[in-house]
Parts: sequence; structure tokens; C-alpha cells
Amino acid sequence: MPSDPNCIFCKIASGQIPAQIVHEDEELLAFKDIHPKAPLHLLIIPRAHIISLQDVDASHAQILGKMLVLAPKLARENGSPDGFRTIINTGRVGGQEVYHLHVHVLGGPAPVGRMI
Ligand code: AMP
Ligand code: ZN
Repeated sequence: MPSDPNCIFCKIASGQIPAQIVHEDEELLAFKDIHPKAPLHLLIIPRAHIISLQDVDASHAQILGKMLVLAPKLARENGSPDGFRTIINTGRVGGQEVYHLHVHVLGGPAPVGRMI
């Protein structure tokens, strides 16, 4: 499984640094964002070090599908039963800060702020 020893999300995936993990399986990990922008703010990541959505190809279709399928389940289980927002910041122009692919899941009991 591709891993980058300097990547903070790889370190979370390997247990080297702690996180509030809400889901883990062989391929994916989900944990609470350290600086939540909504009452519920989760990050879903592949365990494999994929840099960004700019770096995927057809071989990643299954893992990308699994990340999205997981989002509504985790939202329901974590206090956001009536919907949520998903965000994938990509590259310099997309404002990506951590270069390990992740889906933000933002929710809560009340509507979360929107950008578009
Ligand atoms: P992005 O701008 O999409 O790359 O977002 C990166 C996100 O990772 C930000 O919302 C950060 O708050 C979050 N983050 C950074 N370090 C950690 C960490 N150690 N544990 C949990 N979330 C983190
Ligand atoms: Zn990584």
C-alpha cells in the first residue's frame, strides 16, 4: 500500500499520530477534523497515499466510490441524519492543505454554511 512517511494522514492511518477515528476498514479511514467547521466535520481518506483528486485515474474508481458511499452512513451515525455537504479541495487552486486525498463531510442538526 503506497505510504509517505512525511504525510500526516498516512501517520494517522498507521496509528503513529492519534485521531478521533469514527470508521476504519482495510481500505478507508474516517476521523474528526481537528479544526471543525461545522458541528460534524469528518474526513474520509484512503489508507493508500493518493495525493489528490488530480492524481487519480480509472484504477482508483472503486476506492473513490467507496469513499462517497461511506459518507451518508457516517453522517447518519454521527448526528447528521438529514443531509450533509461534501467537499474535496484539490491542488493549489483548490486550496488543498494536506496532500493526501480526503473528502470533507460537514453536517449537524442544523444547515451548515454554503460556498456555492
Ligand atoms: P484541506 O484544505 O482540504 O487539505 O483540509 C485539510 C484538513 O485537515 C483541514 O480541515 C484540517 O483542519 C485537517 N487536519 C489537519 N491536520 C489534522 C489532524 N492531525 N487531524 C485531523 N484533521 C486534521
Ligand atoms: Zn499520505
